[in-house]
Amino acid sequence: MSKPLIVITGASSGIGAATARLLSAQGHPLLLLARRLQKLEELSLPETLCRGVDVTDRDALQAAVREAEERFGPADAIVNNAGVMLLGRIADQDADEWERMIDLNIKGVLYGIRAVLPGMVARGTGTIINVSSVAGRKTYPNHSAYVGTKFAVHALSENLREEVASSGVRVVTIAPGAVETELLSHTTDERIKSDYEAWKKSAGGALDPQTVAEAIVYAYQQPPNVTIREIVLAATGQQA
Ligand code: NDP
Repeated sequence: MSKPLIVITGASSGIGAATARLLSAQGHPLLLLARRLQKLEELSLPETLCRGVDVTDRDALQAAVREAEERFGPADAIVNNAGVMLLGRIADQDADEWERMIDLNIKGVLYGIRAVLPGMVARGTGTIINVSSVAGRKTYPNHSAYVGTKFAVHALSENLREEVASSGVRVVTIAPGAVETELLSHTTDERIKSDYEAWKKSAGGALDPQTVAEAIVYAYQQPPNVTIREIVLAATGQQA
């Protein structure tokens, strides 16, 4: 029997790309979203629709999901993974960086949920997987605005889980520690960036994105009556 459609946001690198490869290898048709369309297409995955969508654009996100559902049938899961981490101090960080994180890390996740949830509730099945962070459970130096967005992902996910539990829809929060991806590269403060790199090194290195992808797939592949509410995973050497 053919497998159902899965939507992955932020699939052009890191955790999203690793998750796309894994789910595709298991036979799922995919909708891959990110701004860099070429990187999505370079994954060269079968039965995959790639769209260069900024997930802070609600209408574009919704339209891409409709297009994929017309082609592959209803979305059985979405991995709301697109995110940005712009570390800084509240006293001097450019406030535009807060806006970018809030728009993508919080509103982008809500838009992704809205694009698939009504159909899932109507069908009485589906899985929403939101990628938060250990920075969605505890604080770190220079992370104030970022932890604000990730605490929000934890909170809205748990509240949504309660809201849709009786509809047969599962909500999963994935909370990784440091992972070796492009994420840190977007932080603009060079000193904070080099301190973070040194911290990762002192912890013996970060997780491989493949490990996080496997956790996502583990949660998804549980029987429909089992919800893995949260997975928190980090490199063993990561103390904080
Ligand atoms: P990457 O920077 O490698 O990946 C981020 C992805 O998000 C890219 O595919 C990027 O694609 C996409 N993206 C960024 N902005 C937008 C946008 N406006 N619209 C659509 N897509 C967008 O980082 P990770 O793989 O590490 O990050 C994935 C998630 O994991 C994030 O939510 C992050 O917060 C979380 N996380 C990461 C950790 C880490 O240490 N790496 C630790 C804990 C959580 P493009 O630029 O092409 O749009």
